[in-house]
Amino acid sequence: MTMFDVPHPRIPVAGNEQAFPVHRIYCVGRNYAAHAREMGNDPDREPPFYFMKPADAVVAGGGDVTYPPRTSDLHHEVELVVAIGRGGRDIRVEDAPDHIFAYGVGIDLTRRDLQMQARKAGRPWDTGKSFEQAAPVSCLHPAADIGPLARGRIWLSVNDERRQEGDLGDMIWSVPEAIAELSAYFTLAAGDLLFTGTPAGVGAVVKGDRITAGIEGVDDIVVTIV
Ligand code: MN
Repeated sequence: MTMFDVPHPRIPVAGNEQAFPVHRIYCVGRNYAAHAREMGNDPDREPPFYFMKPADAVVAGGGDVTYPPRTSDLHHEVELVVAIGRGGRDIRVEDAPDHIFAYGVGIDLTRRDLQMQARKAGRPWDTGKSFEQAAPVSCLHPAADIGPLARGRIWLSVNDERRQEGDLGDMIWSVPEAIAELSAYFTLAAGDLLFTGTPAGVGAVVKGDRITAGIEGVDDIVVTIV
């Protein structure tokens, strides 16, 4: 019996008729040393950690994102997104690549003022991180087509002005390590996404801004704040 008609978030996959059904969205909190430093943290002392966004925060393929309420400091964070195709728990680092179905380019939109208030008060980050449309993701590209992604330029511009720039090789925890560690806390499932952290240069956007972001060898995405 279907009581409600609830839409299931899906992301188009390059070269595939079927779209990827999003189950859960996990995010690595701190995974590039330069970004950890710009947020006032010591990357050597504080290992990366995880938080979540609701599946329907996905904005598949980018497009218009409505400026969210209760913030005056909406930040962009460009990130490599990993789409899990095979679930599991206690996944070994060397086995982690076998669990990856595809890659995409994501933007971890953040109400930075609310996140910082929560951090200061020792409260959860949900109001800062887990709101509607907080997870734009490009089209996904099968890992089989892309191959190993140990390095590659990752960048983000606002109104054609470069804001973020880094390399996937600068991650503190590699993608296989981040998957292995995450799977020690949660049983991963097909449909899960992992946002793998952002390089330095995060900053605010306002209504009317046009965000462009990309990862060498993966794809790019365009988001307009309306
Ligand atoms: Mn992030």
